[in-house]
Amino acid sequence: MRTQVAIIGAGPSGLLLGQLLHRQGIETVILENRSADYVLGRIRAGVIEQGMVGLLEQAGVAERLHKEGLVHDGTELAFAGARHRIDFKKLTGKTVTVYGQTEITRDLMEARTACGAQTIYEAEDVMPLDFDGAKPHVRYRKDGKDIEIECDFIAGCDGFHGVSRQSVPATSIENFERVYPFGWLGILSETPPVSEELIYINHERGFALCSMRSPTRSRYYLQCSLAEHVEDWTDARFWDELKLRLDDQARERLVTGPSIEKSIAPLRSFVAEPMRFGRMFLAGDAAHIVPPTGAKGLNLAASDVHYLSGALVEFYREKSSAGIDHYSARALSRVWKAERFSWWMTTLLHRMPESSGFDRRLQHAELDYLVSSPAAAMAMAENYVGLPY
Ligand SMILES: Cc1cc2nc3c(=O)[nH]c(=O)nc-3n(C[C@H](O)[C@H](O)[C@H](O)COP(=O)(O)OP(=O)(O)OC[C@H]3O[C@@H](n4cnc5c(N)ncnc54)[C@H](O)[C@@H]3O)c2cc1C
Repeated sequence: MRTQVAIIGAGPSGLLLGQLLHRQGIETVILENRSADYVLGRIRAGVIEQGMVGLLEQAGVAERLHKEGLVHDGTELAFAGARHRIDFKKLTGKTVTVYGQTEITRDLMEARTACGAQTIYEAEDVMPLDFDGAKPHVRYRKDGKDIEIECDFIAGCDGFHGVSRQSVPATSIENFERVYPFGWLGILSETPPVSEELIYINHERGFALCSMRSPTRSRYYLQCSLAEHVEDWTDARFWDELKLRLDDQARERLVTGPSIEKSIAPLRSFVAEPMRFGRMFLAGDAAHIVPPTGAKGLNLAASDVHYLSGALVEFYREKSSAGIDHYSARALSRVWKAERFSWWMTTLLHRMPESSGFDRRLQHAELDYLVSSPAAAMAMAENYVGLPY
């Protein structure tokens, strides 16, 4: 088998890259080790920057997003019992859109099927080979048969635990990491959201986030210890703890109901450098992870895909490798800005296990400054809605 770009991973990075390249006449094959249903069943991100909305439009998959997505002009920060609004639109002229990652994945999968591009699900033992040499190829097993795909380039879009980054010799890659001493316990419920916009809560008992996926579907998170087990959290216990962290008005408005998903996610900051190894590129979670506090994970995956698809189009159309040569530096420059913002939001809003009274007072002073200084609010808004590509 032969293709121009072999893509490993059918998450948002791989599917979006495949779609953008297909629309430019570049052939791709996607290899995914899970089933399509499994990929669609993963509940993850939901806040989309305008830049990513633009890319989805470019990929021809934004119709449902524009119909069903919820445009948010701002967000709320709650601390010391009161709520304060950061008005993104007034401060930056930009908004964000709430539309679930599962829906984006579904739209991209349907578009890929409609255009006849190939995705091989349940591909076992996928392995990128000879990406530093002249004949890159990907080997995998399917239905007991070993198969090889020859290609010009390999795109490693296979997430944090994927094989692409792990195939790079240790001497050619440098990893930067911070693991946070807490996790997020998340719940999805078929209940109307407590507020029209997201509420980020800094509370004595720990951080909480009121988010949503639609006008009838809510997503709530609680900061929890990494020693917690999801089985120990009945729905009633979750709602009781959330109520303790809400302000009075939100507590009164909260509609509770049975959870349809509940999970604990650890929080991590991680960057692998560089993002190019000969004829293999890393994109999305394969190269970097951010704690979800700044809603940047999915959006960073999209910005990598923007740079990478542009570089590959330039290579095939103009026979120029300039974009490819600059891919890693361009992507990493934006990645580190999002890493900084996500780390800042995380340290500002969470209760650190070792934090003293002094640390708590400093957090409140910084939050106070953020909601009372237009310059500070502007800096937050600019990063939240997404820095330009
Ligand atoms: C539990 C959780 C909650 C999150 N919540 C948020 C949030 O609220 N906001 C936010 O912005 N971001 C969030 N994120 C991050 C966001 O979901 C990711 O940044 C986004 O999924 C990145 O897309 P990706 O395509 O790069 O990677 P992934 O979505 O991880 O996709 C990688 C794909 O590669 C496949 N794969 C892996 N290994 C192999 C292999 N060896 N061979 C073939 N295929 C392979 C995987 O099955 C997967 O389909 C969350 C992430 C997690 C894990």
